[in-house]
Amino acid sequence: MRKKECEKCKKDFRIMFRVQYTADKNWVFLCTDCVSEVKRDNEDYRYGGTWKY
Ligand SMILES: [Zn+2]
Repeated sequence: MRKKECEKCKKDFRIMFRVQYTADKNWVFLCTDCVSEVKRDNEDYRYGGTWKY
């Protein structure tokens, strides 16, 4: 089973969200929990799709 590591909490997940959440506009993969954390009041937040592994 393929998995991908969340950029923020460093755990492995099978469903990841491709997002930007910092001013440098890098695309990173985050898990559901981390996405709801970083998107709060964040002008740099962009959603780039859901990826299943
Ligand atoms: Zn995470």
